[in-house]
Amino acid sequence: MVYRKRKGVRYDTWHWCKNCSNYPQSDYLTSDKKPSYGELCNECQSKEKNGNCQ
Ligand SMILES: [Zn+2]
Repeated sequence: MVYRKRKGVRYDTWHWCKNCSNYPQSDYLTSDKKPSYGELCNECQSKEKNGNCQ
């Protein structure tokens, strides 16, 4: 699982579902494991829970 977070957006969250409406497409940081700081995206979490995370 690769996590992405937009750069320079102070309160943005980590995303890991490519089908998330807020998944960063450019200018982002990545983490290949669960980030140890910051918030996780609610939309990604609900997609994962529903088995709909791509
Ligand atoms: Zn997301």
